[in-house]
Amino acid sequence: MSSPIGPVDSSKVPRYSGQDGFARLPYRDKVDHADVVLAGVPYDTGVSYRSGARFGPNHIRQSSKLLRPYNPALDVSPFETFQVADAGDIAVNPFNINEAIEGVEEQAYALTENGTRLVTLGGDHTIALPLLRNAAKRHGPVALLHFDAHLDTWDTYFGAEYTHGTPFRRAFEEGIIDTEALCHVGTRGPLYGKKDLEDDRRFGFGILTSADIYRQGADEIAARLRDRIGDRPLYISVDIDVLDPAHAPGTGTPEAGGMTSRELLEILRGLRGLNLIGADVVEVAPAYDHAELTGIAASHVGYELVSLLALKHQKEQDMNRSEKEN
Ligand code: MN
Ligand code: MN
Repeated sequence: MSSPIGPVDSSKVPRYSGQDGFARLPYRDKVDHADVVLAGVPYDTGVSYRSGARFGPNHIRQSSKLLRPYNPALDVSPFETFQVADAGDIAVNPFNINEAIEGVEEQAYALTENGTRLVTLGGDHTIALPLLRNAAKRHGPVALLHFDAHLDTWDTYFGAEYTHGTPFRRAFEEGIIDTEALCHVGTRGPLYGKKDLEDDRRFGFGILTSADIYRQGADEIAARLRDRIGDRPLYISVDIDVLDPAHAPGTGTPEAGGMTSRELLEILRGLRGLNLIGADVVEVAPAYDHAELTGIAASHVGYELVSLLALKHQKEQDMNRSEKEN
């Protein structure tokens, strides 16, 4: 197989120029095949408070221009390991939530043909439901790590079933997540009542709160998550509001007392070795951002997720090779 087409060479073309994809990667139509695609979903019709996450995907792309090809923390060069490309944006109906959800599911299915992994840039958290449906179609019910200030397992808002606060309750009801291996990470802030937590526990979720992360540290948290997930197919959903508003002001429903971007990146790196099959980064609302803080945090989360997929790919290649030799 020919070697992957990598990012634009920033020693020849300055980082601040051009219209290249995430991390200056090529767009999908410029490569023959892709092992991983990043795709935007410019959609925010499901939000309950500040709108604006529809502008998230392009903001994350713009904020990703400084990402460099080698990840020293994981000792991997993700864009040399396999072909990564930016698939552009999934076009969805901004006026009809049901149609938007169907559209994301259909297009996610098309993007993940032939084993291509999808890392989605949101968009509000509503889109996690169709992305989990697609993941389950490909792998059966998936383990889920959900990084978020909020549970997102509420029932309805104003009678609406499909919103950014309800995707994981719907996913539980639809049987598309593996109830043995679900965990919220970074949860904090006031709830409507104790019943929110009781319902959530009934769906099978564990909770590692923002305070747990502060008290136990990133390594311990990652170890506990690895134990819970084992080798199950794993989907990771990162709501950028899991970060403290000091680290991610540009989001729709900010809550004080969140983790730092360093803690989030360290926990993600601590998940190496798990069977990651797909991921999303959502709820970046650039109108509330300052100096690209939120966009930069989201772009680094995307980079770590692609790096985890690259490590998994390397491991699979090594196993194939040693099987052939034996
Ligand atoms: Mn949230
Ligand atoms: Mn959320």
